[in-house]
Amino acid sequence: MKKHNFYAGPSILSPYTIEETAKAVNNFAGTGLSILEVSHRSKPFIAVIEEANALIKELLNVPEGYEVLFLGGGASMQFCMTAYNLLEKKAAFLETGTWAKNAIKEAKNFGEAVVVGSSADKNFSYIPKGYSIPEGAEYFHYTSNNTIYGTQTYQTPQVNVPLVCDMSSDFMSHPFDVSKYDIIYAGAQKNLGPAGVTIVIVKKEAMGKVTRTIPTMLDYRTHISKESMFNTPPVLPIYSCLMTLKWYKSLGGIEAIEKMNIEKANVLYNEIDRNKLFVGTAAKEDRSLMNVCFVMNEDYKDLETEFFEYATSKGMVGIKGHRSVGGFRASIYNAMPLESVKALVECMQEFEKIKLPVKSEIYNN
Ligand SMILES: *Cc1c(COP(=O)(O)O)cnc(C)c1O
Repeated sequence: MKKHNFYAGPSILSPYTIEETAKAVNNFAGTGLSILEVSHRSKPFIAVIEEANALIKELLNVPEGYEVLFLGGGASMQFCMTAYNLLEKKAAFLETGTWAKNAIKEAKNFGEAVVVGSSADKNFSYIPKGYSIPEGAEYFHYTSNNTIYGTQTYQTPQVNVPLVCDMSSDFMSHPFDVSKYDIIYAGAQKNLGPAGVTIVIVKKEAMGKVTRTIPTMLDYRTHISKESMFNTPPVLPIYSCLMTLKWYKSLGGIEAIEKMNIEKANVLYNEIDRNKLFVGTAAKEDRSLMNVCFVMNEDYKDLETEFFEYATSKGMVGIKGHRSVGGFRASIYNAMPLESVKALVECMQEFEKIKLPVKSEIYNN
């Protein structure tokens, strides 16, 4: 049976990425060696990392003065690294979920982390609005897409300080203006490649302003000056990322991907809103195009396990909601085909027909 991969991360990759990676595991760039065993300083691999770097710059219109880095340690390492390199006295944070909280916690090791808005009061089901940035804040950190709660800050916030953003789960899913940011970071395993590499886009001019000593490996300037080759970078994940980037370009770039993402999300949200068995958990205006969270409607709570089993029997994988929200989460990242979203929608409609036979006939007319 065809499997439909809705995992939140690591998550679905394009068939092109997987096929090309498999080929390179057997024979990388005609070297007669596997990508698993080549030196990161070999010419063919340097060509890979350079091309990946150039493609990110091209697809996102990265302006002069920024560097693209490929680092280890996950997005979680960036919670610490961003503050280590940028936070001298005070920074502002938006608390929109678990990942934002982790970033705030790390920042507190380095200075004052002012939480200017929080949606903790409603289990992070919305994006706080109308906040203001306090005097003296050196930057504003936010999470563009809250993977666990299914909310998204789609427009770049209009604030008068540099932005630092955790874009792990919506990186390259829609266009945005890089020049508004000092640091953008994204773990690859949501929208780009396998786990193991984190893409960081750094404004070079913003570095070197804090007075503390920064350990070599945690100092962005180390990796900028060595073009992500200070130590051994994650060779295989970077190769897979390059394949995904090529695939993005072949699709027509980030604008084209955004269109597809909007269409996919609409198909699924329309069904959640129409189907009497289900209800979305995120505030409508803040719904994520990447992670679609929903639960059984109040009257049908006891059907949760049954729907999960039904959907699983139809090939749906990874739709269990995060334990802090419950219910279901369908992650529909860039590589998710519309046909898989439609398969899930069909599942929801069939389940409705089984459970509410009369009503669903009416709805379908
Ligand atoms: C998955 C995720 C993280 C954590 O990434 P790691 O690579 O596991 O450290 C952080 N932020 C967001 C928004 C995520 O989706």
